Formats: sequence, structure tokens, C-alpha cells
Amino acid sequence: MKYQRPKGTTDIIPGESEKWQSVEQAARTLFKRYRYHEIRTPIFESFEVFSRTSGETSDIVTKEMYDFYDKGERHITLRPEGTAGVVRAYVENKLYGPEIQKPFKTFYMGPMFRYERPQAGRLREFHQIGVEAFGVDNPTLDVEVMAMAVELLHSLGLKDLKLALNTLGDNESRTRYRQALIAYLEPLTAQLSADSQERLHKNPLRVLDSKDQQDQEIVAKSPRILDYLTPEAQAHFEGVKELLTALEIPFEVDTSMVRGLDYYNHTIFELMSNSKAFGGKWTTVCAGGRYNGLVEQLGGPETPGIGFGLGVERLLLILEAEGIQLPLNNELDVYVVGIGAATNVETLKLVQSLRTAGFNAERDYLKRKPKGQFKAASRLGAHFTLTLGEEELAQKEVNLKEMESGKEIKVPLGAVYTKFAELIKQLRA
Ligand code: ATP
Ligand code: MG
Repeated sequence: MKYQRPKGTTDIIPGESEKWQSVEQAARTLFKRYRYHEIRTPIFESFEVFSRTSGETSDIVTKEMYDFYDKGERHITLRPEGTAGVVRAYVENKLYGPEIQKPFKTFYMGPMFRYERPQAGRLREFHQIGVEAFGVDNPTLDVEVMAMAVELLHSLGLKDLKLALNTLGDNESRTRYRQALIAYLEPLTAQLSADSQERLHKNPLRVLDSKDQQDQEIVAKSPRILDYLTPEAQAHFEGVKELLTALEIPFEVDTSMVRGLDYYNHTIFELMSNSKAFGGKWTTVCAGGRYNGLVEQLGGPETPGIGFGLGVERLLLILEAEGIQLPLNNELDVYVVGIGAATNVETLKLVQSLRTAGFNAERDYLKRKPKGQFKAASRLGAHFTLTLGEEELAQKEVNLKEMESGKEIKVPLGAVYTKFAELIKQLRA
């Protein structure tokens, strides 16, 4: 019997996982500076949390949900995205309460599940890092969220990104635009893909998001939402553009951009890369927008909100393709070399004491000859070796060597236990 991981999933094994930790650490550090605090919500939720919010004609609800009935006949789904669960938690935990600072700013990271056709950067289990900010409708918050996404990707070394921006307006703008769009698309019905024909009346904006080529050609000539904005929606969008300009964040308005989820309104944005990771084709790494109304939809009080989700697999693919190295934080400080069976206990005590004192330390477990142990030390990239032979042990001494410089000194065994950092200084002096 041969077991394989399910299609569309990956094992993130040591060597890879350090890259993940590096990205996650960068995100945590950055979010802290912007005052976003972590939230951890369940990986499965009631099916309705997503079906009621993502939109009944969205890809997610129609094709991609990992849903099932549990043993208590509850309709459950593995979360396909982060926002709806966070909003559910926001409402359930009354995080809109008067004693809570507005905006309420939070972030998450973790696995999401969508039944999709797996390909590069498209998996069935994938991971997102996302933020959500509730309770403020001001464009400054929209811009803060975008600036944070841009800074995160910049800080990881990604420079050639495009920030695509659009607005979906408010309800009134959308109702007017919807009518115009239906009027334009109706005569072209026969030329649309089956999906788009289905969506034309239920949710015509969805057609703008079609990946079908002929649909895209039709969409290219469709009316633009910008011509249907109410004065308020227009003012919000102008505010966002002005503030992005003030922060010197370049952006491109893309009037045909919509999002894969129905709950968005006003500002929507995507950070895109044309890296060779995706054959030079513009691909979205990070996407988000405003979702005023979503909190009410899940039973909370009227509360505006905005956020983004960033796909970690896609990000790592781009970094890899662009040859960008992440700091991996897997350095080995010391390798303890023991020569002769009699040193076994002392080398174990040494390595244990070094670890307790905060050093990354390793030793031999296979009774290898000194040559083999030194080889291991250099293969692991140890900065220092501590070598203990039977003679040294008798004299309560040990040899400390810096691998890079080749410098070495004999140091008292006891000092390794009490002041290893000082011994290093001594060696380097
Ligand atoms: P697409 O149009 O590529 O299907 P989407 O609109 O469904 O994307 P969002 O729901 O906005 O994507 O998710 C935000 C980000 O999460 C995407 O930009 C991408 O980086 C990542 N993402 C979404 N779906 C997947 C997936 N199946 N596998 C890997 N990453 C994904
Ligand atoms: Mg999708």
C-alpha cells in the first residue's frame, strides 16, 4: 500500500518551513507596528457563514467549497477564505463594543481550502496571511491597509509589484451600474460562456471576473463602474487616490477589476506580479477591499470594514523565481565534538548546557570518528566547534574553534558552562 497526500496539498518539510516562518515573522513584526493583533478562528465553520457572504454565484460557493455534514448532521465547511470567519467572530465576541478602540484591527494566518484544479500557485489547501479592520469608513484606513500590504511585500524583497485599484461604489452606485451592465451584456448573451450566461442576471458584476477569453473581450468594452458612482462613492474613491499619492504609493486604476467574493464595495485592490514564476503573466498575490455591510449580514450592528488576504504559496513561488533569499534563522552556533567513548557524558552535558544558555548546539549521536564529526559540523555551517578528547577531559579543558577564521584556543571546561559568550569574545580578541 502506497499512501500519498491528497491532490492539491503539500507537505511543508524542514528546509521549506524555515521560509514560511521567515515570511510569517516578517508579517507579525510589521502588523505589530501598525497595531494589528492576531485572531485565530476555527478552520471549519457553519456552511452558511460563507454561503451567505461570498455570494451564491461566486466560484467559491458554486464549485469550491469543502463542505460536509458532521455526525450531528450540521452542515460544516472547511474555510475557503479568512474574512467571513473573522467577521463571524467579531460579531459573536461583540468586538464592536463601546469599550473597544475603533478601528478594531486584527490579522490572521493559516490554511484555507478550495476545491480547485491544482496548478502552480493554485492549491486545494493553501495559506493566507490577512488583515481586517472594522468600524471606520474613512479612506485613511483603506490606504493604511494597502500601504501595509505593499510594505510587507517590499520588506521581503519584492519590488516590481503593481497595485491595481478600483471601486465598486456603494449600493446605489452598484444598482445603477448593474442595470447598465445587464443592458450591455444581454444582447451578447449567446457569445458569453455558460458560467457568465448563468451569472448575467443573478450577478452581472461576476461576469467582469470571468477567466474565459471571449468573456474578457466582451468585458473590455463594457460600461465602467466609475461612470455610475454616487457623489459619496466618488468622494471616497478620490480620497483613497489622493492619500495613496500622498504616501507616494504608485497605483493603477483598473475599472474592470472586481473581486471573487460578493461582499466587497467601495475600494478594492490587488497586488500583482508579472514574475517568471507565472510565465510573466500578471498574477495576484494579495487581494482585498472594503466590505461595509458584511458585519450586518452576519448579524452584527452596522459596521464598516476593510481587509486583505495574501497567498503565501504564490508569494514564495515569486520569491523563488526572482532569486530572493529570505533570512532563514536556522544558524548553528556550536557543534560539540567528542573524541573517545569516555567523553560521551560530558559532551552531552555540554551541548545541553549550551542549549539552555540560548545557543543553537548540536553533537554527534553515531559514535563517528573526529573527522566525521568535523565534517558534520562544517556541513551544518556551525560557527564554532568545541572539541573534547579524553586527555582534555582529564585536564578539564576543551578546545574552542571558530570555523570561519580557523582561530582556536584552549578554554577551561567550567567556563563553557558559565560564560560561553565571553569565551567567544576572548577567542575573537
Ligand atoms: P483567483 O482569481 O486567482 O482564483 P481569488 O480571487 O479566488 O483568486 P482571493 O479569494 O482574493 O483569490 O484570495 C486572495 C489570495 O489568496 C489570492 O490572490 C492568492 O494569492 C491566494 N489564493 C486564492 N486561491 C488560492 C489557491 N487555490 N491556491 C493558492 N493560493 C490561492
Ligand atoms: Mg479563485
